[in-house]
Amino acid sequence: MSSVGTTSNPLRVAIIGSGPSGFYAAEALTKKAAIEAEVDIFDRLPTPYGLVRGGVAPDHLKIKSVTRVYERIAALDNVRFFGNVEFGKDILLADLQQQYHAVLFAVGSASDKKLGIPGEDLKGSFAATEFVGWYNGHPDYRHYDFELDKVESVAVVGVGNVAMDVTRILARSQAELMETDIADDALEALANSGVKKIYVLGRRGPAQAAFTNPEIKELGEMEEADIVVPMADATLDALSEAYMESDKADKKDIRNVEILKEYANREPEGKPKQIIMRFLVSPTELIGTDHVEAVKIVKNELYQDDRGNLRPRATDQEETFPVDLVFRSVGYRGVPLADVPFYDKWGTIPNVDGRIVKEFGSEEAVPGMYVAGWIKRGPSGIIGTNRPDAVESVNALLADVDSGTLWSPSQTDRAAMVNLLKERNVRYVTWQDWLRLDQLELERGKVAGRPRVKFTTIKAMLDALDEAKNAAPGD
Ligand code: NAP
Repeated sequence: MSSVGTTSNPLRVAIIGSGPSGFYAAEALTKKAAIEAEVDIFDRLPTPYGLVRGGVAPDHLKIKSVTRVYERIAALDNVRFFGNVEFGKDILLADLQQQYHAVLFAVGSASDKKLGIPGEDLKGSFAATEFVGWYNGHPDYRHYDFELDKVESVAVVGVGNVAMDVTRILARSQAELMETDIADDALEALANSGVKKIYVLGRRGPAQAAFTNPEIKELGEMEEADIVVPMADATLDALSEAYMESDKADKKDIRNVEILKEYANREPEGKPKQIIMRFLVSPTELIGTDHVEAVKIVKNELYQDDRGNLRPRATDQEETFPVDLVFRSVGYRGVPLADVPFYDKWGTIPNVDGRIVKEFGSEEAVPGMYVAGWIKRGPSGIIGTNRPDAVESVNALLADVDSGTLWSPSQTDRAAMVNLLKERNVRYVTWQDWLRLDQLELERGKVAGRPRVKFTTIKAMLDALDEAKNAAPGD
């Protein structure tokens, strides 16, 4: 047989996950002029785009326009999409080994980190990821009920951009939310929300906040919410002051501190909701008998560790205040996949430059297996960060084509995957199907006077496709 990557023997790669890193990997594989590749992208949902659809905040529509790039990749003749196909259930590693030269996992981080404090499992305590999935219409979170009508005070733990998203969505007015593609259920529940106070709790100071400038600025421009930053919380400690005056000070941190100081000097306008930002505090307990009723926090101080990082350390000053709902927003975490190595401590797949290795710390690559995106490097960076990340992994894969260390599939006919899925009665969704769903969601949006109204269950998606097919048979 001719060598891998030629017209008669194209390089066949399965990509698991159709979020940004999956698409950027597909792009990198298909744009190398010197290599012929066939790429199949699988997603466990009938819809593509991963966190662009299920994570990016619904009021950040502009960010979502990155999907146009992914559409162009999916439209290539040598790229196929198989939605509603779950790796580990519908298709196994052994199936892929029979049909592809390699697999690249780009499954992101589906779970979250916990705080590890008493009361964390009380009702009313959630991961931000659950709230984000719910308001974005992710089918896994459709059934959640945050009982927002009974909530007056919320605590959001963490000061990253996800915490900013969650806070903004809780604080938005109905009119503001109407202009978004937020899930219908969430729109209705938020319209009936009793939320008046949203506490945002940062364990370190303003100079160490993870949020970026545009996100903290948005919180100061809310139609129905005042931003409140107690002056004591906006004031820097001596170590942070020294950092800000050093040449190591990051521009983002300098601007964040300026914005927060401006907020601390603002008089609240008496809007119906308040966003109260606290710094140098950590929750130590969620209090309540059955449901969260209050949060106990401890005041922190900063110290410099041996590597020069400013870390938080608890003092003996405690405070307790009532809250009805808590969202921990302290980072995402990957989940293990069947037959794929996993490093539990970091919630990632162990790898060297995108080549999956047997275990963390090992240099021994597992032949034919690659990884990209958050499940490779952990949950950090913006969408664009995933492009160079995916390119690095694909470059490793392509180097292995040359060294002949990939799988040797016995079924290289493109029909083989379709046949396998049909044999197993897997109702897969093609790219054409997705384009139809996309169109239907946009049309539903038009009727409702909104940018898009999403289907939020897999059944509703498949039923809508059936209906569309019955209405236009032979299409
Ligand atoms: P993140 O940026 O890593 O922020 C996590 C936050 O949780 C930090 O403030 C961190 O504080 C805090 N934290 C961690 N452990 C904690 C603990 N035990 N107790 C209290 N606080 C704790 O993570 P993220 O917000 O989940 O965002 C993930 C990535 O997506 C980031 O790169 C983010 O920028 C990106 N993202 C971007 C956008 C956007 O561009 N608009 C929107 C959403 C997400 P320390 O700093 O002290 O560790």
